Amino acid sequence: MRVADSDYARYIPRPRLYRTHEHWRNETVKILRGYATCVAMLMIAMTASRTHAADVLDATIGTITPVVIDLRHRIHQFPELSNREFKTSALVAEHLRSLGLEVRTGVAHTGVVGIFKGDRPGPVIALRADMDALPVVEESTLPFRSLERSTYNGQDVGVMHACGHDIHTAVLLGVASTLAAQRNSLAGTVVFVFQPAEEGAPEGEEGGAALMLKQGVFGDLKPTAMFALHTTTDFPAGKIGYVAGAAAASADTFNVTINGTSSHAAFPELSVDPVVIGAQAVLGLQTIVARNLSAFEPVVVSTATFHAGVRGNIIPATATFGGTVRVFSPDARDLVERRMREIINGIAQAGGATADIDYRRGTPPLVNDAQLMEESVPVLKQALGSDNVVLTKPVMAAEDFSYFANEIPSVFLFLGVVKPGTTSGPNHSPTFQADDASIPVGIKAITSLVLDRMQR
Ligand SMILES: [Zn+2]
Ligand SMILES: [Zn+2]
Repeated sequence: MRVADSDYARYIPRPRLYRTHEHWRNETVKILRGYATCVAMLMIAMTASRTHAADVLDATIGTITPVVIDLRHRIHQFPELSNREFKTSALVAEHLRSLGLEVRTGVAHTGVVGIFKGDRPGPVIALRADMDALPVVEESTLPFRSLERSTYNGQDVGVMHACGHDIHTAVLLGVASTLAAQRNSLAGTVVFVFQPAEEGAPEGEEGGAALMLKQGVFGDLKPTAMFALHTTTDFPAGKIGYVAGAAAASADTFNVTINGTSSHAAFPELSVDPVVIGAQAVLGLQTIVARNLSAFEPVVVSTATFHAGVRGNIIPATATFGGTVRVFSPDARDLVERRMREIINGIAQAGGATADIDYRRGTPPLVNDAQLMEESVPVLKQALGSDNVVLTKPVMAAEDFSYFANEIPSVFLFLGVVKPGTTSGPNHSPTFQADDASIPVGIKAITSLVLDRMQR
């Protein structure tokens, strides 16, 4: 059964056709009305035939998938940068309200929180999707690719869902639809967290998971488990990956200024050369991973910028360099920061210079809850088939779901999105592209985990 077939056919994405917000909103309302009718019909059919629970879940997901795919296309075609997810959050809030959820908007700027209550009391489970896009010009072959532009830190940029957050948002909307269709048989509460600014807020702004928690996103509710997923191009649509323990790294930044003494470059003996001292410090930092940490401890120390001087015959007074540190364990994080300070200050002192070190701790490592993961994997295998649930590797990228995972036992999964028989650029690249076929897989995975928690 498809929702409002004639209507839906009209909305198969044709880029630039529904350009205004008002037009978009009207079309969404039409689709949602058709969808609500269809879900009601499905409920009647389900009751009449007393279908087995798994078949009911499959039937429900089959019904809502075309609608959710349409929402995904709209979100993808009109991506918005971090803390600017205005149209996306309006679409999310409207969909959640149409399902009868209690909805809060404006959380951490553009975040949306939907509270779903089953007909009977039970556990509180939280789910999270991130909604923001990246300043990337899309080069995918998708018919609904983005042509949007915006301003990022003062620069004119293209905007693209190059990290697949459109898929995450669509999957969670699909989970809400699936649970709403089964409300009368469910025991418990689900908090849907649609988060802004996972990629980081613009300069001078707060945002993301940390700000949502700071603003008390859960209110009086105390979730006992939280789930999220992220697109990956490591495997095809149809598969889900999991990692026991740490799944994503921390992301700290450092900026260092070496203060020396300027001179004519022909008379280096009159200078304290910050370029040579800075270069030694950069090389010295590489010994932290090689000499201070176990070979079994995954750590990255990358110096990504180095700036000094204005012309070749002047030794400058200062040199600056900066970069990022990625670790998986709090102990390694402490050790790296301590050794960086010792090495940089020691080398600067040896050269007669001083160093100003600005080390900032950013997103913490994302660590899955061991027991929740142990209980979740069999549920996923049952729902998707054992072959489709694969043990995978952690990533050195950071993911701010870690702020939630530090407060609530959490599981973070990887959703394969590569269309079988095709290739995709990696996340954050202009040629990243995610297959719609990953959406029902994500919906089934997360819904099955929620239903399992409710039944425990
Ligand atoms: Zn990303
Ligand atoms: Zn991402």
